[in-house]
Amino acid sequence: MKIGILALQGAFVEHEKVLAKLGVESVELRNLEDFQQYRSSLSGLILPGGESTTMGKLLRDQDMLLPIREAILSGLPVFGTCAGLILLAKEITSQEESHIATMDIVVERNAYGRQLGSFYTEADCKGVGKIPMTFIRGPIISSVGEDVEVLAIVNNQIVAAQEKNMLVTSFHPELTDDIRLHEYFINMCN
Ligand code: GLN
Repeated sequence: MKIGILALQGAFVEHEKVLAKLGVESVELRNLEDFQQYRSSLSGLILPGGESTTMGKLLRDQDMLLPIREAILSGLPVFGTCAGLILLAKEITSQEESHIATMDIVVERNAYGRQLGSFYTEADCKGVGKIPMTFIRGPIISSVGEDVEVLAIVNNQIVAAQEKNMLVTSFHPELTDDIRLHEYFINMCN
């Protein structure tokens, strides 16, 4: 099994390390050529945390946005963390432009304000158990469509969800030692 990790910007190396711990091969996708070369051998795709506006711009500049969107729509499992979640959302509050826009969720960026911008907690994640959660200026999922399953709630806010082949978290599972959420994603890819 091979998992592609979008490596335009942000925390992609950390995802590679978690996959290595799980014994899963990964490839960095830095441009359209990488994506085209590996597309047919990929079992899944990870969109890391970082800065969603920058990643969205790079995806467009490199003509990667539409091919990735099509791959996800045709069923390629995808795991979006933090900015990766924002990339997948169909609607982003207080801005007109969405990016890959395949997942039926509305998200609010930088929703925790200055004080609570970054924090650590532990909470239950459906199908996984109690896991550590590191938030870094993360988004909040303010509403979900009917096919979206809510997996975790923190402070009354949705912080993890799944819709068919799409898994998202507003926190960073790749920044803790707990590898169970990645394991959950790998099972989606099998
Ligand atoms: N605040 C970032 C954004 O809006 C996301 C933060 C992150 O990925 N850690 O894109």
